Amino acid sequence: MDARYLVRDRGARDERRAPTTAPVRRPLTRAADSEARPLRFSAAATSAAGPRPDNQDSGLASPRLLAVADGVGGNVGGATASAMAVRSMLEDLPSDRWETPETLAEVVRSANRRVGSLAIEVPVLDGMATTVTAVSLSDEGRLTVAHIGDTRAYLARGGQLTALTRDHSVVQAMVDAGSLTAEQATTHPWRSMLLAALHGREQDAAHLEVSALRALPGDRLLLCSDGLWSVRSWQEIQRTLDDEPTPFEAAGRLLDLALMAPTRDNVTVVVADVTAGAAPARPTVVGAAAAPDISRRIAS
Ligand code: CA
Repeated sequence: MDARYLVRDRGARDERRAPTTAPVRRPLTRAADSEARPLRFSAAATSAAGPRPDNQDSGLASPRLLAVADGVGGNVGGATASAMAVRSMLEDLPSDRWETPETLAEVVRSANRRVGSLAIEVPVLDGMATTVTAVSLSDEGRLTVAHIGDTRAYLARGGQLTALTRDHSVVQAMVDAGSLTAEQATTHPWRSMLLAALHGREQDAAHLEVSALRALPGDRLLLCSDGLWSVRSWQEIQRTLDDEPTPFEAAGRLLDLALMAPTRDNVTVVVADVTAGAAPARPTVVGAAAAPDISRRIAS
C-alpha cells in the first residue's frame, strides 16, 4: 500500500454555493417493452461546495456510467484532478465496450494518465490527485464497480443497504486492524488521510479495486463523496434511499441532509435506479467537472 498520505485542505469560509442539480427522468414503460430492452440507469446527480470556497468534487450520471470524484490538492489542483477524471470518463462514454470489468478499469486508468499528463504540463498542479468511484452497467445487466480512495458506492436492494466499496484510508485500515471502531473512525483526526488516489502515476492503477455483480431491475445505487457519508448515518442514508420516489428526489434530499448536518466539506451525490426500457438520456455532469472556467483558472 502506498504510504504517501494525502490530507485534504480543511480551510473553510462561510460561503455556501447553490447546488447544481439536473434530473434524468424515469420514463413510463410497458411491461412487454421492458422484457426486450437492456437494463439502464435512470440517474440524477447533484453537487455543492457546502461551506468551502471551491467545489473540488465532480460527479457524472448517465444511462450506463455513474461516477463521483473527490479532488485533492492546493490551488485549483483538487478541482482540476476530479474534473479531469470525470471529463475523461465522459469522453469514453460513446464507446460500446461496456461488456467486461476490464473496460471500466481501463476507462479509469485512462483518466489517471490524463491527470498525470496535465500535472506535467502545468507545474502548479503537481501533486494534485483525485479519488474515483465509478459504476458501469452492461447490456447483460452486469454492474462493475471501480474504486480508489474514499468516495463510496452503495446498493439498496430489497430493503437492504450494502456497501460496494471499502475506503482506501488510514482510519479504514485502523478499523480493519481492530485498533479503531467504525464509530470512532468518523471523528478521528486522521479521517481525511487517504492511502490511495489517482495522481497520474503508473503505480496508482495497482490500488484500483474492481468488482462485478448482477444488476436487478429495481436496484437503487448511491455514489457519494465523504461530504455526505461522514455526516449522516447508515440508517439515515438507507431511509432516504427507500423513501424518496425518484433518483432526482433522493439525490436532492441526501444533499440537503449533508448541508443541514452541517457538513464541513463539498458534497456530491449520484443516485441511479436500474430500469429496463429507460429512455435515452444525456449525461449529467456536476461539480468541478461542470465548471466552464476550469481551464482559465488553471492558466491564471
Ligand atoms: Ca471530500
